Amino acid sequence: MEQVQTRVKEVKSFVDGEYLESSTDAKFDVYNPATQEIIAHVQEAKEEEVDRACRAARKAFEEGPWRTMPLSERCQKLRRMAEIILERKEELARLEAMDVGKPYPVALEKEIPRAANNLKFFADFMEKQGAEVYPMDEDYLNYTRYEPVGVASLITPWNLPFMLTTWKLGPCLAAGNTAVIKPAEVTPLTVSLLGEIAKEAGIPDGVVNVVHGFGPGSAGEYMTTHPDVDLISFTGETATGKSIMKSGADSLKKVSFELGGKAANIIFEDANLDKAIPTSLQAAFMNSGQVCLAGSRILVQRSIFDEFVERFREAAASFKVGDPQDSGTNMGPLVSKEHYEKVTSYLKVAEEEGATLVHGGKRPELPEHLKNGYYLEPTIYIQEDPKARISQEEIFGPVVTLIPFETEEEALEIANDTDYGLNGVVWTDNLQRAHRVSHHVRAGTIWVNCWFVRDLRAPFGGFNQSGVGREGGHHSMEFFTEAKNICIALE
Ligand code: NDP
Repeated sequence: MEQVQTRVKEVKSFVDGEYLESSTDAKFDVYNPATQEIIAHVQEAKEEEVDRACRAARKAFEEGPWRTMPLSERCQKLRRMAEIILERKEELARLEAMDVGKPYPVALEKEIPRAANNLKFFADFMEKQGAEVYPMDEDYLNYTRYEPVGVASLITPWNLPFMLTTWKLGPCLAAGNTAVIKPAEVTPLTVSLLGEIAKEAGIPDGVVNVVHGFGPGSAGEYMTTHPDVDLISFTGETATGKSIMKSGADSLKKVSFELGGKAANIIFEDANLDKAIPTSLQAAFMNSGQVCLAGSRILVQRSIFDEFVERFREAAASFKVGDPQDSGTNMGPLVSKEHYEKVTSYLKVAEEEGATLVHGGKRPELPEHLKNGYYLEPTIYIQEDPKARISQEEIFGPVVTLIPFETEEEALEIANDTDYGLNGVVWTDNLQRAHRVSHHVRAGTIWVNCWFVRDLRAPFGGFNQSGVGREGGHHSMEFFTEAKNICIALE
């Protein structure tokens, strides 16, 4: 096992360029989900601290120099932030693995580098943007400017804390806005360092503020109602998105929401199972299934159903569940006690609904030091009824439902019978079918013969109740800027 830092951390909000002593002694604890040990005490930001953070962000926006500095200089500072993240990547990956329970190599090799790239990508992207000129009668010059909006509240979930926060912070800052960030209270560790990393990169005080607290009646809610906040970028549960939309409605804040999902992963009989099976396994169980893009409904054509079930079961049985800090671990624990209880409550639902358990459904055998961790084996059910709750609701854990289908039409009907629409996956060797099915699945991203392959220029977001708006490339820039039309008489 790798060396793990065991000292309990003291975490504070970061406001106007410095760590803030809370006005009250309210604190909450953060646990390592693999062991249930306390790893951090966090000072909770109350209304007063959130107000200070929002006012600091407003002042930094109005008085500059962030918004007014030359674009190349602003982008250079963002690239420096990305470099610092890479310089500190082992520390950040250790913290993320300990806080979320994800395997350390995944944090080290994928998520932290991607977080750095989120900042670098949007710095490069912003610098390359043009703006429209509309040729008019020769006496006028008519053009567009993209200006920053103001203060952004960036609210993120616990499954990919650092990666998802930088995915919002990159375009927010590149466009010249200022930010107040709130990570999920169960996983605040890596995001709590973003303020000091921004400062070290030369970003002025007040531009990046981080507060720690809860959602309703706490920091999250204050950030969505505060009069100094102009826009809210939120990633989390659909129900939370609805409540945030109501909170922001009075002052008509701009919103961008990335919400829940229940993706159909459709396996046709002509699919290459040697590729489809290992990828579907990742899509189902990566990050313990706590991924909005998880392929949690696997629709398999009846003619290959039995073969698929057997091979998928074998593959799941070889998935190594264990200590997130061990390099050979494929899957760690669930993130928290509360979430473990939610996920395991679906095991009872599955049983009551008559689903057939193919694999898992219980705690794995684990070494003594992990005996208190929130572990669940990769769990596979067959459920013929696509209306069953385990086929419809986002479980957000290592629980996958296999659903047989006969025809392409039936597969599409099942795939689209959902309140969500974040993404879908299609496995087939038939090019025409690949296009046809991709066009008919009602979701924001469709992967054909692959999963989770991302190009940061591409639109990312959900149909139906999986989101409002799109992130990525110019879609993010549109959200984080106001387009201004200027028409000048040349006489
Ligand atoms: P939540 O919606 O519970 O929380 C997300 C964030 O919102 C947390 O920081 C939370 O604070 C905060 N929050 C909660 N209530 C409010 C409120 N009323 N006002 C303001 N802020 C609030 O989501 P989870 O953390 O449970 O994350 C899992 C969900 O995120 C899943 O549904 C998943 O699908 C979705 N997700 C979507 C992605 C996408 O791109 N579409 C990507 C990743 C996840 P606190 O933690 O203190 O409650």
